[in-house]
Amino acid sequence: MKSFDYVRAASLDQAVAAAAEPGSVYLAAGTNLLDLMKAGAARPDRLVDITHLPELDRIEHLSDGSVRIGALVRNSTLAYDRDFAGAYPAVAEALLSGASAQLRNAATVGGNLMQRTRCAYFYDPASACNKRMPGSGCDARAGENRLHAVLGWSEACIATHPSDFCVPLVALDAVVEVTGRSGKREIALEAFYRLPGEAPDRENELEPGDLITAVRLPAEARSFAAHARYLKLRERTSYAFAIVSAAAALRLEDGAIRQARLALGGVAAKPWRTRAAEAILIGAKPRAEIFQKAAHAALAEAKPSGDNRFKIDLARKILVRALAEAASGTPSRVPALPGSPFSSVPGALHDA
Ligand SMILES: Cc1cc2nc3c(=O)[nH]c(=O)nc-3n(C[C@H](O)[C@H](O)[C@H](O)COP(=O)(O)OP(=O)(O)OC[C@H]3O[C@@H](n4cnc5c(N)ncnc54)[C@H](O)[C@@H]3O)c2cc1C
Ligand code: SF4
Repeated sequence: MKSFDYVRAASLDQAVAAAAEPGSVYLAAGTNLLDLMKAGAARPDRLVDITHLPELDRIEHLSDGSVRIGALVRNSTLAYDRDFAGAYPAVAEALLSGASAQLRNAATVGGNLMQRTRCAYFYDPASACNKRMPGSGCDARAGENRLHAVLGWSEACIATHPSDFCVPLVALDAVVEVTGRSGKREIALEAFYRLPGEAPDRENELEPGDLITAVRLPAEARSFAAHARYLKLRERTSYAFAIVSAAAALRLEDGAIRQARLALGGVAAKPWRTRAAEAILIGAKPRAEIFQKAAHAALAEAKPSGDNRFKIDLARKILVRALAEAASGTPSRVPALPGSPFSSVPGALHDA
């Protein structure tokens, strides 16, 4: 591992000033960053440790009905917060479907949003990778690419975003709070990530020094609590990233769908909100045919980027299943296998 400087930031201003220097990067729990450094895929000159910053580890239920989640809240803490899990069950389920218990106990909210792609060529400094080294090419295009993107990809990069948490967040209109050199600002999560285009190394809207301080869910996000699911297909039932995943949240009135929120994971360089599919559902009765129609609309623009045509059909199927499960009602407790299509086994439930 290359040697680097270490700064433990004691205030937001100090953190932002230190991280704005070229070659600097924030360190939260380090569960992704340190792996990348050990592999030689990240070579920062300076780590700015934010774990001692005050007040970023709070979950605040605000008087306007929204919830503000500090960037240093641990993934497990959030998923097991009873008020949070009750109001945003699909988000809790997505969190608990990710990584292992040990990793979730360490990983932070900000770090989960900012984790890097799991493309194996990105992790391997001997491979050509436009994301790691702009202009070097993309070994994934002709390489091992069965898990790569089917939506929004470019010839320069076909990687996917690996986060589970971000999928229901984008469906529920989450907003990212950022503090940078020019003060505070807010960015809708849907607009936060960039598609690769010609510059896959530029993954999001953050500028040098910008620190995520919190993620906010608006009051309206609570109104989907009775009919919300997150489902994830993976190569093992636990401790694996998504091949594809889906968040579905519905508001039902008088037997019809009044509001629908849908997003897919594992299909693109960002969590993929599917507004065309949402529009198809509104006003309809929650039936298999309408779920199929919505799923076809969600994947209408999809095309394989390699050996991954199967992901298109798989993404349709997981979306149909997530919609059916959401329509039948959120389970009263988080399933023992969160996010798994096998979790509907009666009696297998976590106390969250
Ligand atoms: C074996 C393994 C399996 C995993 N499986 C899953 C999975 O199934 N699903 C899933 O979603 N995730 C999974 N993860 C990823 C895990 O969730 C992330 O590693 C974790 O969320 C990163 O959080 P962290 O606090 O450790 O971030 P760090 O590793 O400290 O940081 C990650 C990145 O975020 C930046 N950063 C951190 N905080 C901020 C901030 N507040 N503002 C700006 N930038 C910031 C850092 O500079 C760095 O670039 C897995 C990880 C491992 C190692
Ligand atoms: S898909 Fe993207 S991350 Fe993977 S090798 Fe190509 S450029 Fe790099």
